[in-house]
Amino acid sequence: MSHPVAGLAPLRAPLEIEFDYTRSLGPVLSQFMAALAERRILGARGADGRVHAPPFEYDPVSADPPGELVPVGPEGIVVSWSWMPEPLAGQPLAEPFAWALIRLDGADTAMLHAVDAGSAAAMRTGLRVRPRWAARPAGSIRDIACFEPCDGPTGGAGGEADTAAADEREMTPGMTVTPVRLVYMHTASPGESAYLRGLAEGRLLGQRCGVCGQVYVPTRGTCPADGVTMTEEVELPDTGTVTTFCVVNVGYPGQRAQGFTPPYVAAAVLLDGAGIAFQHLVLGCDASEVRMGMRVRAVWKPPEKRGTTAGSISHFTPTGEPDAAYETYARHL
Ligand SMILES: [Zn+2]
Repeated sequence: MSHPVAGLAPLRAPLEIEFDYTRSLGPVLSQFMAALAERRILGARGADGRVHAPPFEYDPVSADPPGELVPVGPEGIVVSWSWMPEPLAGQPLAEPFAWALIRLDGADTAMLHAVDAGSAAAMRTGLRVRPRWAARPAGSIRDIACFEPCDGPTGGAGGEADTAAADEREMTPGMTVTPVRLVYMHTASPGESAYLRGLAEGRLLGQRCGVCGQVYVPTRGTCPADGVTMTEEVELPDTGTVTTFCVVNVGYPGQRAQGFTPPYVAAAVLLDGAGIAFQHLVLGCDASEVRMGMRVRAVWKPPEKRGTTAGSISHFTPTGEPDAAYETYARHL
């Protein structure tokens, strides 16, 4: 038996995962951020007399929350640094800059921030720096656009663009938004590549294990039960049975553009002839009507909107057939 995808290169595509992580700042950091909006920097005095800036939430010596916060800086000295020759999107400055640990005047610990020194040659340990304040404070760490050398000219343009972008986010007092973004190249396995190429053609392709006879879709390339490479390609119908499901009641940013809103159903759909179910949306009926055993059919996107990197199946929708008997899918739960 020859490998069904021999000769076709595995698919590769950039994969981008992005979401905003929103959380409470808590009582201490809320004060710290609120002070930044007033162009003041606060630290916390610990049980051993040392001043920590930024302030600790719990004393590293006594584990108590800090008492009254104390003003520090705003100038300080660079304790250590590293050069960022090619800044990434979302970083404080668009031009090359230094990440530095800065010990502010009156503080015993250092805080991490960006220093706009113009060049790595201008950076050194012991360099005196001052904050360059953002034009529009928002109660965020980005109210300090960056630090700059005290012996240099005041205020560069750097930092303003990203600060403005940060300002556009909805700033809620006491809350902080941390954008998380991961971009990488994903290389699909030969079996996954065949599955994705099939989707672009409106076909559902799986593989059958030569030992146990189970059909996996999407295929994993090897049978998880037997550990053998699967070589037999199987085309499956686009009808199946809902085995389990959940009703999603929480939306996500940009969802309206997808054409559906909560409550909606994410279900495990067992395609007819498949050994394992896969996850997909079940739309086309009220979320409360979806049930175990419900018969569903794939709703394909128009051919011009299908592809090997985007979802080619829009969702599954009820066929109207009588429900499948529990015994027919019980061992696939
Ligand atoms: Zn097997």
